[in-house]
Amino acid sequence: MSKLNGKVALVTGASKGIGAGIARRLASDGAKVIVNYASSAHEADRVVGEIEGAGGTAVAVRADVRSKTEVDALIQTAVDHFGRLDVVVNNAGIYQFAKIEDTTEDLYRQQFDLNVLGSLLVTAAAVPFLGEAGSIINVSSFVTRILPTQSAIYSGTKGAIDAITGVLSRELGPRGIRVNAVNPGLIETDGTHANGVMGSEFQAWNEQQTPLGRIGQVTDIASIVSFLASDDAGWVTGEHIIGSGGMR
Ligand code: NAP
Repeated sequence: MSKLNGKVALVTGASKGIGAGIARRLASDGAKVIVNYASSAHEADRVVGEIEGAGGTAVAVRADVRSKTEVDALIQTAVDHFGRLDVVVNNAGIYQFAKIEDTTEDLYRQQFDLNVLGSLLVTAAAVPFLGEAGSIINVSSFVTRILPTQSAIYSGTKGAIDAITGVLSRELGPRGIRVNAVNPGLIETDGTHANGVMGSEFQAWNEQQTPLGRIGQVTDIASIVSFLASDDAGWVTGEHIIGSGGMR
């Protein structure tokens, strides 16, 4: 029996990158998966097709997680479709580095609205449906430990996620709901290709500084999330697992 058999998992921002990798892994471990996306319907359908092609079960559901109305509809659709909800992975997020002098309201709002407000709205809407043994996993970042320059806003969003993870582990623990974070190091994704990190000096610096001598792949993070989603992690809450090949 696969370790996530019988569970239903929502992964936000699962049309690409880390979220797509998490969706594929949770499905291969037996979960039925809701593949959330905001604009990339074709990519989300491809992830669902890959899961179904491997014998799994998934459905793509569009929702901008910055909107309470859309998030409420997303959670209701998930519950209506699969009859329950056990695992929520708050993965949707963006990263835009800038010097402090170049801070703008737009840079702040784009990153805080998606990375922080989005996670809060999804968690708030999902909690009433999560039963005993529910698991919430927040995708944070190792930036909260290595504090790269020019990342004040982005690192601020992930620092908030680290704090929210701890608070909610205490608030929801008495209801049997576990809340943990995974803090990835640099990962090769659609996003890190699109913003030019791949092939940059930042990538080379990461490889030099990482004890395991490479940057991460989405599968490196997906396996950590699968563990946190499973009953094997039933005694684990309020933790932050740094998935960075030893870089810290
Ligand atoms: P990515 O490849 O750019 O993918 C981002 C995903 O988020 C896409 O599926 C996108 O869907 C979705 N998304 C964007 N806006 C959304 C919205 N308003 N509502 C719902 N979904 C939305 O990103 P990634 O590199 O995999 O990063 C994923 C997460 O990991 C982020 O939280 C990021 O901060 C964190 N992280 C990444 C790295 C890294 O090196 N890659 C390291 C540490 C932490 P659409 O295309 O449909 O909009």
